[in-house]
Amino acid sequence: MVGDEAYAGSRSFYHLVDAVREVYGYPELVPTHQGRGAEHILSQILIKPGDVIPGNMYFTTTRWHQEKAGGSFADVIVDEAHDPASLYPFKGNIDLDKLRRIIAEVGAARIPYISLETNVNMAGGQPVSMANLKATYALCHEQGILVMLDATRALENAWFVQQREAGYAHRSVAEILLEICAQSDGATVSSKKDNLVNIGGFLALRDPELAWRARGLLVAYEGLHTYGGMSGRDMEALACGVREMVDGDDHVRARIGQVEYLGNLLIDAGVPIVQPIGGHGVYLNARAILPHVPQDELPAQSLAAAIYADAGVRTMERGVVSAGRDPATGENRQPRLELVRLAIPRRVYTQAHMEVTAESVVSVCEHADDVGGLAFAYEPNDLRFFLARFRPLPIPAKSTVGIAQRVEPKPPPVGPGS
Ligand SMILES: *Cc1c(COP(=O)(O)O)cnc(C)c1O
Repeated sequence: MVGDEAYAGSRSFYHLVDAVREVYGYPELVPTHQGRGAEHILSQILIKPGDVIPGNMYFTTTRWHQEKAGGSFADVIVDEAHDPASLYPFKGNIDLDKLRRIIAEVGAARIPYISLETNVNMAGGQPVSMANLKATYALCHEQGILVMLDATRALENAWFVQQREAGYAHRSVAEILLEICAQSDGATVSSKKDNLVNIGGFLALRDPELAWRARGLLVAYEGLHTYGGMSGRDMEALACGVREMVDGDDHVRARIGQVEYLGNLLIDAGVPIVQPIGGHGVYLNARAILPHVPQDELPAQSLAAAIYADAGVRTMERGVVSAGRDPATGENRQPRLELVRLAIPRRVYTQAHMEVTAESVVSVCEHADDVGGLAFAYEPNDLRFFLARFRPLPIPAKSTVGIAQRVEPKPPPVGPGS
């Protein structure tokens, strides 16, 4: 109701600027319609063709925008992140030796920034330690390389630092969040996550000159610099969400507690999931659940389809489908992780929903032999996991009527390239 819908200079924009300064500590705000809008602008202002952007595991839209700007992504996350069974408490950490090797190989001049994600989504919602963040800041700044955070889940990361890292047990998540961002040069944020709103996002920066370059593109792609892609109402709600998420530690404790509740139901039932349990969701290890489905028959996608057919619970493939094709060779990238993500929206579900979800996953796992692989029926060129369609492959040997056979997709739409 208090949203100011003025085209230029909306009061709601300045409320948002104040909230982001207060909670994240960045002086310059470039509002966008959502996270990928911020990634687009950041990639376009900093990346030149041939540049390399190291990061702690790829994120789908982040890497796509880096590649679209002519850059290439280099994975510098610790090896533990690629092992679903490793109990390492900070599986989001940067492997500083890998980072040093990339810098030595391509030269700091070809690395415009490092893309450092807090609470790494594709690794299973796994945190970065404060010690690792600080070591990374020191190494990059000594080499003249900027550090840009994907701070979409920085709040969840702050919670894990408080829970797991020596010296932080008595600090509030609000203080830890500020410390996470303090030495970074900027951040992209999807406000659909930690920030508790339905839509929105931002690019936050320290350098005013860089911020003005970003605004130059913002006015072409998103909207005027005092609203980006958001309405005044959205900006007002986002300013509230940014403050509310750190108004005491109870919100994040309850939020991650619900994820842990689901994760523990599955662990107790013997379902192989990524451990430690992540911040925003539980990740099923599809390789272990469907060992008979080879990677080119899309095991994680097959498992996601089977769970949907069983209980109507929509999960998300995070394996070979999400990884896409290498733009240089056209071949499928073959990630070590074949995961199905059960991401939990904040303030939506009850404990009972978690129980129904666990029952369905357990039941699908008990009949895993009946789940066959899938093939693409429609494969889009870009970010294929969003719009792809699949058809079931025959289920090998001994199985009777299988779950996959019930997943009869409609014929693919006649679209571009099909
Ligand atoms: C969701 C997400 C994005 C993309 O943000 P959108 O708001 O969906 O465009 C980027 N990075 C991470 C880590 C995310 O979880």
